[in-house]
Amino acid sequence: MKLATFTAGGAPELGVVLGDRVASISRAAPRLATTMIDLIARWPAAERDVRAIADAAAETLALSDVRLLAPIPRPGKIFAIGLNYADHIEESGMAKPEHQVWFAKAATSANGPYAPIEILPGGLVDYEAELVAVIGAGGRRLTREAAPAAVFGYCVGNDATERAWQHRTPQWTLGKSFDTHAPFGPWITTADEVPDPHALAIRALVNGEVRQDSNTRHLVFDVWDQVAHLSHAMTLEAGDLIFTGTPGGIGAAMKPPRFLKDGDRVRIEIEGLGAIENPCAQAAAS
Ligand code: ZN
Repeated sequence: MKLATFTAGGAPELGVVLGDRVASISRAAPRLATTMIDLIARWPAAERDVRAIADAAAETLALSDVRLLAPIPRPGKIFAIGLNYADHIEESGMAKPEHQVWFAKAATSANGPYAPIEILPGGLVDYEAELVAVIGAGGRRLTREAAPAAVFGYCVGNDATERAWQHRTPQWTLGKSFDTHAPFGPWITTADEVPDPHALAIRALVNGEVRQDSNTRHLVFDVWDQVAHLSHAMTLEAGDLIFTGTPGGIGAAMKPPRFLKDGDRVRIEIEGLGAIENPCAQAAAS
């Protein structure tokens, strides 16, 4: 199923995407769950009800009449792995890491699939097309074999990055955590509809020009290794997000570098998961 958080002008609603329409879970079953994290946490019990809502297709609205929000507006954790495609490691001038390189993106960086990416004055903002894994059952100290059962589904993500802030200190967290810099969506495709997350075409386009064009089969550390590794350190919980790395083709590695500017449109596409497209908006000087 494809699960979305949307607004039809009022409070955010949960929905199931059916082609070009969305069936409102919030209207059909208001007590089922109030947020997407809630729904994911209750999924073993709620799945049948949500499937019935999808099958009945009552209370549907045209996708064009609603605004899709970040599927999880305020994730508990957002983690992202660096240097996880060979061509991106090469363009970054770094050595292939022996250990997984992790950083956090602040929960407040979460952004909708079509909402603006903010560029502060003087900002050097870049895109990074990424497959995003959404944690479901989660857990602690998961083995690689147990990892698939811990993942709820997948989204298309853009690990937008303020490069100047990323590179001026050894820690990347601030440069990766600017508000609006974690757009994802357009909905969560549940894992049962993604038979192999390591065989998905992934692309980034800026104003229609293809900048990144790869496949998740090229991940250095795959999703299962990532889940196992992260969960060794911390408990993964329903609705946590894992940005799984970006392929080569970032703007900072172009010669000369090409950063995002006011009015640019960044589109990220992943086979079977849909696309997100965010306009870039220069913030006024304060
Ligand atoms: Zn990234």
